Parts: sequence; C-alpha cells; structure tokens
Amino acid sequence: METTATKNQDILEWEAQLETAADQHTRIDLLHKIAWAIHLNDTEKGSRFAEQARDLSVSGEFEQNPYLPGIIGSLRTLIALNTDAGNYDLALSQSLQALEILESISDKASDISHLEMDILGVASWTYRCLGNYVVAAEYAMKKQKLSQAMGNKRHEASALNVLSVIYAESHDLAAALEMGQRVVQYCHEGNNVRGESIALNNLAMTYLELGNGKQALEACQACLQLARSNGIEAVALTALSTMGEIYLGIKDFAKAEEYLQQALTLAREKKAGSDELQCLLNLGQVYLHQHNNEAALATLQDALLLSRTSNAPRGEFQCHQLLSEAHEKQGDLGAALHHFKQFHTLKETVFNEDTAKRLSGLQVVHQVETAKRDAQIHYLTTIELKREIEERKSAQALLQKLASLDPLTGMLNRRELFTLGEQAIECALQQEQPLTLLLFDIDHFKELNDSYGHASGDQVLIRTTKLVRESLQQDAIIGRYGGDEFVILLPRSNCNEGQQIAVSLCEKIASQVVDVDKNNLCITVSLGIAELRQAHDLTMEALIACADHALYVAKQAGRNQLAVYSGCS
Ligand code: GH3
Ligand code: MG
Repeated sequence: METTATKNQDILEWEAQLETAADQHTRIDLLHKIAWAIHLNDTEKGSRFAEQARDLSVSGEFEQNPYLPGIIGSLRTLIALNTDAGNYDLALSQSLQALEILESISDKASDISHLEMDILGVASWTYRCLGNYVVAAEYAMKKQKLSQAMGNKRHEASALNVLSVIYAESHDLAAALEMGQRVVQYCHEGNNVRGESIALNNLAMTYLELGNGKQALEACQACLQLARSNGIEAVALTALSTMGEIYLGIKDFAKAEEYLQQALTLAREKKAGSDELQCLLNLGQVYLHQHNNEAALATLQDALLLSRTSNAPRGEFQCHQLLSEAHEKQGDLGAALHHFKQFHTLKETVFNEDTAKRLSGLQVVHQVETAKRDAQIHYLTTIELKREIEERKSAQALLQKLASLDPLTGMLNRRELFTLGEQAIECALQQEQPLTLLLFDIDHFKELNDSYGHASGDQVLIRTTKLVRESLQQDAIIGRYGGDEFVILLPRSNCNEGQQIAVSLCEKIASQVVDVDKNNLCITVSLGIAELRQAHDLTMEALIACADHALYVAKQAGRNQLAVYSGCS
C-alpha cells in the first residue's frame, strides 16, 4: 500500500543524497525527482527545486549540450504547478516544449518513458483546463497506451481518470460513469490510494451531473476520508470543493457554503488558483440561490478577475453566465446583456458543437487503433498457428517416413516394402508393364560379423545398400527383407533388363573396398532374379519366393553371382 511514510522516507533519502551529490547530473536528477514528489504538498519548494533542476540542465557542463531528461523532469512539475495555479498560458508553452524535446529523443530508455507519461498527463490536464477537450483526450489516450505498453497500472489509472473527467465535462455521462467506476475499482485493487481518491472525486462529479446526489455525496465523502487519512492534501482540497458543489446541486445551500468556504481558505493558502476559481464560482451560485445578490456579485467579480489573470476561458465563461444572471436579478439589464454576450462568445471558443463531434471522432480513431492492434494480434496468432500446423505436419510426415524405413540402412522396412511392392505389382498389371524383382544377400556375412564385430557388419550393410541405391534409378524400390537380405523391385523392367542391372550391381559391389575400422574389406553379394509374369501367384510373397529360389541357386553356384528363376524365359 502506498503510504506517505514510505514516500517521505524516500524524499528524505534523496535530500540527504542531494547534500553530498558531487556531480551536476546527479544533482539535477535528485532535484527534479524531489520537486515532483513534493509539489502537491509543498508548492513553493516544489517549484524552487524544479526551477533549479531546469537551470542546471542548461548551464555549466550542460551549457553547450543541454541535459534533456533534466529539462523534461523539471518541466513536468512546473507544468503541473502552473496549471494548478491557473497560469495556463505558461503551463501550455512548457507542455509544448517538453513534448517537443520528447519527440526529438528517438531511442527512449525506460526512465524517459516514465517522464513521457508524466508529461502527457500534465499536458492533458492543462488542455482540459483550457477547455480543449480534444487535445486533452488525445494526450490522455497516448498516456494510456504508453502506460499499458509499459505495464504501468498507476499511470494507466491516472490516464483513465483524466479521460473520465473529459467525458463528464463533454456531457458523455454514460462513458464517464463507466470509466469512473472502472478506475476506482482498478486503483483499489492495485492499492493506488491517490488514484482511487481522485477517481472517487471524479465519480462524485459524474453522479452529480446525472442528478444522483446521494451517490455523489457517498463517493465524495469516501474520497475526502481516503485523502485525509493518507495525507493527500491536494485531493482533500478538491474533495472539499466538490462537497460544496454537490450540496449546491442538491440545494442544501448552508452546507454548500460551509464546505466551499473551507475549500476557498485552503486553496488560497496553497495558492491553488484553479481550485480557488472553482470555489468562487460555486460560492457565487450559492449566494445567487440565497438571494444574496451583493455577495454573489462580489464573489463572481473576484472569480472573473482570477479567471482573466490566469487565462482560464472555461472559468471565465461560467463567470459571465453567472454575472449576467446576478445583474438580471438586480434589474441591471444592460450589465446582464453585456455578460450574456461575453458568455456566448467565450462558450463558442471553449465548448463549441465541434468539440463533441471531434471528440467522438477521436474515440473512433482510438477504437480503430485498438481494432487494428487486435487485428495485428489476430494476424500474428494466425501466422503462429499456421507455422505450428506446418511444423506438426512436417513432423508427422517425418515420423511417418521414419516408421516406414529400416533404421540402420535407411532403406524401406519389410512392412513398407510389401505395401509399396503390392502397389507396384498392381500398377504393372494394370498398365501391362513388366516388373522384375531382385533379391540379394551378402556372402558369408556371418563370418564378417564374427571376424570384425557386429558394428563393422552394420557398416557393411550401410555402405552396400548405399551403393545399391546410388546405382539404381529413382523409381527402383529397395527394402530390407531381413538380416543381410534385400529386395529390389524394378518397375517397367523385364527379366533381361533385371539381369543386366544385377550383373552391374554384382560387379560394383565386388570392386568396392569397404574401409571399416582401418580394415579394407571386400564384399560380394549373390542375387536371385524373378519376373512378375513367372510367379504363380501375382503377389509380393510369391515373387520373392521365386527370387529366393534363384538366390539359393546363385549361392550354391559359388556366390558373387546371379541366378535367374528358372521359370523366366
Ligand atoms: P551366406 O553367404 O550363405 O549368406 O552366408 P551368411 O554368413 O551371410 O549367412 P546368413 O545370410 O544366413 O547370415 C546372416 C547373418 O547376418 C546372421 C546375422 O547374425 C547377421 N545379421 C542379421 N542382421 C544383422 C544386422 O543388422 N547387423 C549385423 N552386423 N549383422 C546382422
Ligand atoms: Mg548372407
């Protein structure tokens, strides 16, 4: 849980470090960090430290090459303070300066991104105070996106808070309510006390706009309690002002005046110009309702002066509206008309019809962007899925292939040999093509195993079958029948052609010297040949039986030779 105690401890630690900080760079970072941490509770010191940080960032060792993080870090405090004090013009130019610097930094480290979120937040609030809801919403959305990307819930909550205010003030109360409730929940779950208290205050304002005084009071009281018990004075001040506004809304003018006076005193003490202006405007309304025209006029004149010196058009147009009302009640129609005209002129610039349209346009852009991102995610997931499916397919194919091969030699295993063999027979019969089968067996293989070992025997099997494969055409089917016996099926070859191939194989194998473990071995094979048309049964089994018969003859005849099944012509 965020407590002021731990925060204060951090600040004390930074201040101690500041005492001993030797280099300018460290001093600047500490100064703007402290300024930002304290600016809500100690505006004077916050402003002093921020100004020092900013000055140091462009002087001394940074005179030629300004220290940009130092400038941005100090500007965020100065913008916030100037907005709170109602110095909107200054806040605006500082916001633009900070945003321009941020734009110039192409490769942003995480600390710069944190500063960027703060700058977007304060700039958005400045624009909101100036009544430019479109730009305000744009910056708040940018901040929300950035904080989401960085997984920073605290910043995200504050962006959503600003957006909920913008929606409320742009009269999209349903959106404001939905977002407000979401932020309260969000902050509560994340133990973000400051965010929760601000969100409760905003929610109270939305309830009030919706005419739900009871819930507005509840939310505002919860906000006040939370802010006070956690020492968040700035929010407590806003909550007091909101309490006054709610009582004004539910027409309990005595209570409204009581809260607004408390808030006004505090705002003046803290030099919180924007809060002061809000209090004066609401007090003016309270006096109007109480038919205390004199007090209303005096208060509203104060408010008008303040809104002009701080250049707050939103406040100013409200002043004119109320002043027009007050003068009308007094019977001074000339003055009433004057303020009425001023009110209308300013209202146009502050909140014209375009704003609502541009805001909804912005929402669409935001939604489109979100949809685009979702589509991108969808696209990537699909690609990922496709890749996975392809991978699985090829793994499956590989498995199937492996399951059909003899693991030692890589030739077809017996099962696959029979499957493909039967298919080849069927094909040959259908197309009336010849088909010849060779069965070969290594001569005296047992002796070789005994003399050189089983591993050497394996090498001989591998080399011999490799040589056979390389010597034959692609469509020849080669499979291990068992042990040192292999079958070769020659599609479209008759017995004579098979015989020529067998002679060539015999010679090649016999002339090959197999080097196994530094032993030069000479291998020979014997072959039996049978053509399909000679077999009694037109099956693999029958064909192999014929070839085996011939092989036996070849072995008997002294090996390293071939024999043709006697049934062949
Ligand atoms: P022949 O000339 O009459 O064929 O005599 P041979 O010694 O080759 O006799 P036969 O074909 O009957 O013997 C096959 C031997 O092959 C028997 C077995 O130990 C050996 N063998 C079977 N499979 C493998 C194997 O995967 N690796 C090795 N190294 N030897 C095998
Ligand atoms: Mg053998």
